[in-house]
Amino acid sequence: MECYQHPGHGAVGICKHCIKAVCRECARETVGGLACCEACAEANIRLHAITGAAVKAYGIGEGKRSPPSAVVMPALLGLGFLLFGLWDMFSDKPGIAWFMAPMGLLFLFGAWYAWRKFKSHGINV
Ligand SMILES: [Zn+2]
Ligand SMILES: [Zn+2]
Repeated sequence: MECYQHPGHGAVGICKHCIKAVCRECARETVGGLACCEACAEANIRLHAITGAAVKAYGIGEGKRSPPSAVVMPALLGLGFLLFGLWDMFSDKPGIAWFMAPMGLLFLFGAWYAWRKFKSHGINV
């Protein structure tokens, strides 16, 4: 592979913007990758900035603001089980309350446990 500008010069890399082989003299190292010229270097840096902004906007690598589903799901399930169990317990013909209520407590305990782990990681909610 030879430099696209200097035939005979071995290429050291490929411009990330225009996909051309570049030699040591042409190559420019930027935060966004290798570039062949000033224009490509700027384009790489701009692209890098946009990618970085997108990463921030979608919360990747940043602290999540809402509790994780590991906390929310068992909490909702637990409440559902518990309410259904209580409702069954006080109905005319108690049936599966003995099963529903402990299950609800188990789920709530799971949610509380997940919440504690979540908090101990230092994530503000
Ligand atoms: Zn280029
Ligand atoms: Zn060159």
